Amino acid sequence: MPGILESEIKFLPGVGPKRAALLEKELNIKSFRDMLYLFPFRYVDRSRIYTISEVEATMSFIQLRGKITRINLIGDKGPARRLVATFADPTGVIDLVFFQGVKWMKDKLKLNTEYIVFGKPAVFNQSLNMVHPEVDSVTEENPFYIGNMIGVYSSTERIRNSGIGNKQFARFQATLLRQCLDVIQESLPAEVIEKKRLVSLRDALQNIHFPSDMKSLAAAQLRLKFEELFFLQLSLLRQKSYRQRTAKGIVMPKVGSYFNKCFENIPFELTNAQKRVIREIRSDFTSGKQMNRLLQGDVGSGKTMVAILCAVLAADNGYQSCIMAPTEVLANQHFVGVKKIIEGSGINTALLTGSTKAKERRAIADGLMNGSIHILFGTHALIEDAVQFANLGFAVIDEQHRFGVEQRSKLWSKNELMMPHVLVMTATPIPRTLAMTLYGDLDVSVIDELPPGRKAIQTIHGTESQRRRIYAFMKDEIKAGRQIFVVYPLIKESEKMDYKNLQEGYEHMIVEFPAPEYVTAVVHGQQKNENKAYDMELFASGKANILVSTSVIEVGVDVPNASVMMIESAERFGLSQLHQLRGRVGRGSDNSYCILMTGHKLTKESKQRIDLMCSTQDGFELAEADMRMRGPGDIEGTQQSGLPMDLHISDLAKDSQILEEARNMAMLVLENDPLLEKSENFLLKTGLSRLRREVKDFSQIS
Ligand code: ADP
Ligand code: MG
Repeated sequence: MPGILESEIKFLPGVGPKRAALLEKELNIKSFRDMLYLFPFRYVDRSRIYTISEVEATMSFIQLRGKITRINLIGDKGPARRLVATFADPTGVIDLVFFQGVKWMKDKLKLNTEYIVFGKPAVFNQSLNMVHPEVDSVTEENPFYIGNMIGVYSSTERIRNSGIGNKQFARFQATLLRQCLDVIQESLPAEVIEKKRLVSLRDALQNIHFPSDMKSLAAAQLRLKFEELFFLQLSLLRQKSYRQRTAKGIVMPKVGSYFNKCFENIPFELTNAQKRVIREIRSDFTSGKQMNRLLQGDVGSGKTMVAILCAVLAADNGYQSCIMAPTEVLANQHFVGVKKIIEGSGINTALLTGSTKAKERRAIADGLMNGSIHILFGTHALIEDAVQFANLGFAVIDEQHRFGVEQRSKLWSKNELMMPHVLVMTATPIPRTLAMTLYGDLDVSVIDELPPGRKAIQTIHGTESQRRRIYAFMKDEIKAGRQIFVVYPLIKESEKMDYKNLQEGYEHMIVEFPAPEYVTAVVHGQQKNENKAYDMELFASGKANILVSTSVIEVGVDVPNASVMMIESAERFGLSQLHQLRGRVGRGSDNSYCILMTGHKLTKESKQRIDLMCSTQDGFELAEADMRMRGPGDIEGTQQSGLPMDLHISDLAKDSQILEEARNMAMLVLENDPLLEKSENFLLKTGLSRLRREVKDFSQIS
């Protein structure tokens, strides 16, 4: 039964069809409920009225109470024209200045009427004024604007232009609360509310919009954040347990000759962490349940080897695998890298990318259908509909945060009879809170150990004045047989500006490092694929000393002989990206270096980032810091995949404790009542089904 909260927003007094369309378009507000759940993003303290004698130019927004004693129109038509109203209270006078809406203000303002003005004081010509303050007459029926904490609602230019200002939002909320408060049902079970000492939903909604004081505001925020995160976790955990109960998995118990032969080919000893993760995956392969596992491991920790060995296990059991990478360079490297391991084992592989020729595509299609290809490497190209497997048993996504949710879910369906086991891998450490939200329904494996013999990477902040010395140092490294990466920023692969940076950089480098003594390769997004491959190969094979590139090499590229990573305009990269890039060196047993070049002038935040990079090599520490500095929306891991739902009030960077408690509570509830069948949990079912409608695509959170 749709209640009043489900009413269309156009029926709210003061909205109407035109504004309703705008509200929907700009803020996605369709119903009364949507409006009620538009919470202020900050509050202005209007609980205090200052006297004019107290006013100083350094104050932020304040309010005054008094009367207008004089109104003057100053200046000719044009930008200098302004309305100046002299505002007085018993302690002094201050000018109110308006440059816009002059005529309208002139008509509106009345002499000798009591007003509350709200604005930021400033000094002009040695006297105090306020430019464009809000002016409300005290008699006006506006109770929530005086003596309160005032909520500020996020809005857009177009909405403001349609005449809906902050005050109007507050009026909407006041109306809604008056009309709906009585019918608003509690959404959390009594037990949860009691255990967590939360305020009721009604109180919370009242106080989030019109807080009577700081304390009630804090209680309202806590309650609403908890609720939001609790439902999110509840849905993720239910999803997980549902899948664990129902999703049958392909059973692959056998360890056969493919595996044994490949294993013998590995030129090193697996780390204990790699062995452990392979055991974890093995136990999923034999469990009869479909695997959905996230493998986290810092750059260079050897995730690829784990994936390949598991793919070979699948082949032993008669199943095909695919390994999808975000770039051609990387897919190609996987494909080439596996050759030594599979040599003489009888395993067949193929590579499918955007640049695979039609003829070869057909051969691959045949090989996939007749089962002769065991492992298919590739990029997005391998999720195209035309690509069909005889029996896909294991699907791997490398650097998964580079893919969107839809792309991932397409892989799931490549086996129509039974979902393949799925392993998603990431080298971008994800802060715990974010992982719980993005991957709350996955099992997680971690490689927390680097292969032995790796040395710490020394990270240095370099500026222009040191450039000569840095080049001299690079020449020494090259003399010692090492190779060097030079990376230029890249925002989008096609951006002309970045290309210019790189092109100039490249030309500069070949002057500084002239041929034939030095060989410099170049790789960027605007290159033809064969040129890209050629230059990559030049560097990978050791024939080129220097590789100049945009951040296309960020992910995965493996050249153990490289010892220097120089990043130009390092301030333009995010922390995780810098960390990824740095991970390209330090793979051999030599000392290696990461040089972060920046201009002399840096913002405080950039400086912080660079300093942090120089002080730690711990990917998790960096990820946490990144999230604190930039907020979760900008974290590398979420840019493409996105959070499963829009959070109205919680902030994953700040509310980690609430999130943790919400998750624990959700677990407890599900432990006692896995299907939420008990009457006391009826509310939760309602809440979940509403959430399901809001969540972008619920079935595909992965
Ligand atoms: P990532 O986890 O970043 O994807 P890779 O799989 O690319 O790491 O591995 C990085 C490098 O380490 C590769 O050259 C790989 O062959 C090598 N490697 C992987 N495992 C081991 C190991 N146990 N011992 C030594 N080298 C290893
Ligand atoms: Mg990798």
